[in-house]
Amino acid sequence: MTLAMPAAKHAGEELRDSALRQLDSAAKALNLDPGMHQFLSTPERTLIVSVPVVMEEGHLEVFTGYRVQHSTGRGPGKGGIRFHPSVSLAEVEGLAMLMTWKCAVTDLPLGGAKGGVAVDPRKLTRRQIERLTKRYTAAILPIIGPEQDIPAPDVNTDDSTMAWIVDTVTMMTGRHSPAVVTGKPVELGGSRGRTEATGRGVAFVTLEAMKRAGRAPENTRVAVQGFGNVGSITAKALAEAGCRIVAISDVSGGYTSASGIDVPKAIAHVQSSKQRLLEGFSGLSKISNDELLAMDVDVLVPAALEGVITPANAGSVRAKLVVEGANGPVTADADRMLADRGVTIVPDVLANAGGVVVSYFEWVQSRAGFYWELDEVEKRLEIYMRRAMELVLSTSKTYDCTLREAAFIVAVDRVARAIERRGIFP
Ligand code: GLU
Repeated sequence: MTLAMPAAKHAGEELRDSALRQLDSAAKALNLDPGMHQFLSTPERTLIVSVPVVMEEGHLEVFTGYRVQHSTGRGPGKGGIRFHPSVSLAEVEGLAMLMTWKCAVTDLPLGGAKGGVAVDPRKLTRRQIERLTKRYTAAILPIIGPEQDIPAPDVNTDDSTMAWIVDTVTMMTGRHSPAVVTGKPVELGGSRGRTEATGRGVAFVTLEAMKRAGRAPENTRVAVQGFGNVGSITAKALAEAGCRIVAISDVSGGYTSASGIDVPKAIAHVQSSKQRLLEGFSGLSKISNDELLAMDVDVLVPAALEGVITPANAGSVRAKLVVEGANGPVTADADRMLADRGVTIVPDVLANAGGVVVSYFEWVQSRAGFYWELDEVEKRLEIYMRRAMELVLSTSKTYDCTLREAAFIVAVDRVARAIERRGIFP
């Protein structure tokens, strides 16, 4: 008789389960009302849409899209839209919940939402991606809006995607609607500094955590997994601060150099390559993504996708500081294993919150129709990040817990209190 192996859990399910387990532990620490705990465990609203796209050859392909609003307790839903083959309902639900906590930790007057389409955009032409974006936008239009739910870029989406969303909403409503999304091109009402904000925020919390551990940038070796918007800007900012970036990677594989990688050169390579990948970046030793995670470095920044550090490889992580540039890169079990070994993890809801903080600034600017200078954006971003970081650090001391547990305690408490003050309708 052969025993069937249990099916491996999909990374999206793992992410949602991890988020729920983290909520459970915060609920316990806060002695949260069981009804409130249940309310916060479930998304407020889920929309699943079918997205047909006419391909170049004339045939039709149909993709599945999602928009999940986890909580609007503190304000309109906020969160990105990703285009990736692994997008699933579980994944979008988990990511929407993380957005609720991220906006609450940073004290933005916003709730949490997320969207996605299960598609591999590398297999589509730019025109097809535009059509896909516009059809998906039309499908989710009933539940998005500046006072309802405000999307933004995420994995494989960018300012062009946001411009197409603005166009669709404007055409369908007859009203110019820049505040319906953030992460727009600056010429269409985007905020200065939004593109760099996530990576800048990740670098900021990394340097702060290093400072507290008595670690000087000159003596710090960093590996960054993922070289999209978040990973590349983080690597660039950390290199500028004096750290040595010894490894970078993307879906095409990783690259390492003991003496340090020329990050601007790597960024220029990606920007000039057709697939926008590191592939073919010359002069460096090649490694795999798994090898990058196990490198002998001081700081590891997983800035690609969720579920990359699991119980299977957590034991081989050698960095003493892990900063989550991506959402959910460390699973709940791996998180415990690393914490037990004394590894400090700056959790996603704090580490990569710079993006949504500047999204909030952009939403404010778009609604006011008045745009700030870059130094104003940068100054305010630092204020928000520093305040959130200090609160999470002090909460971790008060509760004698990890930074992730502390971030969840701060966030869950803020969301629950807002809902309580409003009272449950009707
Ligand atoms: N997608 C980003 C995140 O996961 C940004 C979301 C936003 O700006 O609304 O935080």
